[in-house]
Amino acid sequence: MTDRRYAEPAFADVLSTVEFRVGERPHIVVDTDVCRSCTTKACVHACPADLFVPTSDGGILFNYEQCFECGTCYQICDGEGAISWSYPDGGAGVVFRKG
Ligand code: SF4
Ligand code: SF4
Repeated sequence: MTDRRYAEPAFADVLSTVEFRVGERPHIVVDTDVCRSCTTKACVHACPADLFVPTSDGGILFNYEQCFECGTCYQICDGEGAISWSYPDGGAGVVFRKG
């Protein structure tokens, strides 16, 4: 008998159905000076694409190129003014396709 329960797709499979058209202008800019005094680093765990990487000096490395544009980092950020968030320019950004 076939098990018809829904199975979550692996994240790698989801990624294979997504295309990132990288814009020349970063649509998210992170002020790492603000991040150095941030005690939670909430963005590191909240970003589904793992785009925030803590550095040994207490800062953050950020790369906008594989951003899903979900806005979670902006919502959850503890540091006032740390994240400047906007959508990518026309034609750039994430493209969701059916798998
Ligand atoms: S939560 Fe905000 S202030 Fe804290 S490390 Fe992340 S981007 Fe920086
Ligand atoms: S918008 Fe979403 S995917 Fe993009 S950097 Fe923020 S949390 Fe990560």
